[in-house]
Amino acid sequence: MLLRQLFDTRSWTYTYLLADRKSGEAVLIDPVFEQVRRDSALVDELGLELRYTLDTHVHADHVTGAWLLRAKLGSKIALMATAGATGADVLLADGAEIALGSRSITALATPGHTNGCGTYVLDDKSMAFTGDCLLIRGCGRTDFQQGSAKQMYRSVREKIFALPKDCSIYPAHDYQGRTMTTVAEEMEYNPRCGGARSEEDFVELMATLGLPHPAEIAVAVPANLQCGEPTDHKPMPAEPDWAPLRYSFAGVWQVAPQWLMEHSNEVQIIDVRPADEIGGRLGTISGATLVPLDNVVESAGSLDKTRPVVVVCRSGGRSAQATVKLMRAGFEKVANLHGGALRWAAQGGELVGKATGPA
Ligand code: FE
Repeated sequence: MLLRQLFDTRSWTYTYLLADRKSGEAVLIDPVFEQVRRDSALVDELGLELRYTLDTHVHADHVTGAWLLRAKLGSKIALMATAGATGADVLLADGAEIALGSRSITALATPGHTNGCGTYVLDDKSMAFTGDCLLIRGCGRTDFQQGSAKQMYRSVREKIFALPKDCSIYPAHDYQGRTMTTVAEEMEYNPRCGGARSEEDFVELMATLGLPHPAEIAVAVPANLQCGEPTDHKPMPAEPDWAPLRYSFAGVWQVAPQWLMEHSNEVQIIDVRPADEIGGRLGTISGATLVPLDNVVESAGSLDKTRPVVVVCRSGGRSAQATVKLMRAGFEKVANLHGGALRWAAQGGELVGKATGPA
């Protein structure tokens, strides 16, 4: 199996990409709306097919990326039937199985944080994704969204602690930089629901937490009740449409050499290499303006921000760095030439300004 843990810095959410390496079939557990671009870039770069998005519950702190991923990649939306959301493709009952190539994931009903929470367990019980039920040395709150401390205690003790002791636990959040734990560790060290803590102890403790409500709750819950379909409060993210761009997991919009060959007169091309490198053996693309990488943003001040900019270097690394800087500086139509001048030339693109003569 392939497992990648992804993090959303705004809501402190962990998203998990889980894939069967043999078939390439993948699921994303708890994807975040704002991270759909990043997550789909990873799915794409790893050559996977996203079969499902699985939300562990109706989140109150972020909007799910489920709807947007279905729109982009054709994945199916699955979550517990008890979550009460509309617009899902698969509503899971306790014990339901989701096929993933030759492998499968079982959905366990683990209510308590909300009444519709589920824990997703891999077929060999080597890993479980517990959402906001069992956290690392903690557990989710139980004071809204039909939460119940009694139910939470039973979900943890009877369902999650019944898994093999060496089963890895991957939660939906952690606020202290911890990434995973195991059943055995939580049975021993979880200060809320581990050890000899009784149900009464637990219920009493959960009643006294006094936590503030999540900032996003008024936007997140209604949106998540429709599986993250965009609303007036959370519109579709704007996608650049000036070229067939691909977003990389490295965080950069990229354009293919072939497209640039056919549309070079529609864009501003900048080359971020030093002049002596360009004047060497490789040359640059006709019409490119030389802009030093060090102060690309300042030097790009003379460019027209409303016209697309394509950034070039030798192999696409320095230009990717420059593209990110320009994106951050407010250039909305900017992309890196994928593979740089080398790929451009390899695909038949012409390069000018190079030195001639023997090597
Ligand atoms: Fe939650």
